[in-house]
Amino acid sequence: MSGITIALSKGRIFEETLPLLAAAGIVPAEDPEKSRKLIIGTNRADVRVVIVRASDVPTYVQYGAADLGIAGKDVLLEHGGAGLYQPLDLNIAKCRMCVAVPAGFDYAAAVRSGARLRIATKYISVAREHFAAKGVHVDLIKLYGSMELAPLAGLAEAIVDLVSSGSTLKANNLVEVEEIMSISSRLVVNQAALKMKRELLQPVIAAIEGAIK
Ligand code: ATP
Ligand code: MG
Repeated sequence: MSGITIALSKGRIFEETLPLLAAAGIVPAEDPEKSRKLIIGTNRADVRVVIVRASDVPTYVQYGAADLGIAGKDVLLEHGGAGLYQPLDLNIAKCRMCVAVPAGFDYAAAVRSGARLRIATKYISVAREHFAAKGVHVDLIKLYGSMELAPLAGLAEAIVDLVSSGSTLKANNLVEVEEIMSISSRLVVNQAALKMKRELLQPVIAAIEGAIK
């Protein structure tokens, strides 16, 4: 495919990416929240945006179906990053990945006693590394949505999830007991495209870099 294809997810990443693209002179022709189109043109005839699920962005870029993409560090760590060049932390969609438990559960005591903990999460590989490094024995239970429900329903003792304000945890009577890492979104670039389309991609990457807050 000639020109530039950019993979973005709807919602916060699309919203927070708009000013960065604008700095590169790229303005999407439609709002994906209002349109059902999955391929959106821009003011530039040679640039298009494909709208994909947040966790699918690295895959589109890895295989070259998109040249550029924007994905959270959480998503990139789970994907593994194969075939991706990650030149810029965009400092957008900021949150943190943490361990949370029901308000009455003594997590520190459970860890000290060496108890085996069931952990529900969407982030299996980050969670596995975190608990292995701490020497905590865990059974990881993969979920795709609403981690907060798992301890309340008796599926797990704890969750590993993303938190920003903490209001969702609070509304479900959960408390954050450990921060695993801070999260923001990164620009990802297909490694082959960066070589083949360098004169097209480099100015866009440089303009985005100049617009990072
Ligand atoms: P889907 O909604 O399709 O299941 P998702 O939840 O991963 O996927 P988004 O909610 O759009 O999609 O999140 C996209 C990215 O934004 C995440 O990968 C993460 O890096 C970041 N993010 C998630 N939750 C928050 C939050 N509460 N505040 C700020 N950034 C967040
Ligand atoms: Mg979400």
